[in-house]
Amino acid sequence: MSHEGIRYVRKDEEARENEANRPLPRIAVTPQKVRVLLTEGKGVEIDWVDGHRSAWSFAWLRDACPCATCVEERKADGRKPGQPKAKLAAVLPMYTAPAKPATAHAVGRYALQFNWLDGHSGGIYSWDYLRRSCQCPECTFVATETEGMPN
Ligand SMILES: [Zn+2]
Ligand SMILES: [Zn+2]
Repeated sequence: MSHEGIRYVRKDEEARENEANRPLPRIAVTPQKVRVLLTEGKGVEIDWVDGHRSAWSFAWLRDACPCATCVEERKADGRKPGQPKAKLAAVLPMYTAPAKPATAHAVGRYALQFNWLDGHSGGIYSWDYLRRSCQCPECTFVATETEGMPN
């Protein structure tokens, strides 16, 4: 019986990995409307052409920075995109300044870039990356691993 249990888990992980690697249809990664709620300090909302709506907090986006440095850092810590650093979460969480960009702008027609108040700005958030990182219950249920690739 335990064999079946183990096999089931493996199958499930494989299925999720396939899901993360599968190219998304163009309408799923084409934003119809992008709202960067800078003044409110809330985050980013995107209405996609396929009718889906996604929203991310700035804190999540900062911890999901797709630049090489941050990706390596998360890999070393075993963190998923959007997952805060353990030491920051454990030590004086109340004194951590909230992540907020000073400015945000589009990069060509394919991505967003933020100039974070902490001075960081290397991350290019492509529409594809953002759509795969959609935080709505429907999406997080299937695609929780956007960065689970070896190498
Ligand atoms: Zn980064
Ligand atoms: Zn979603």
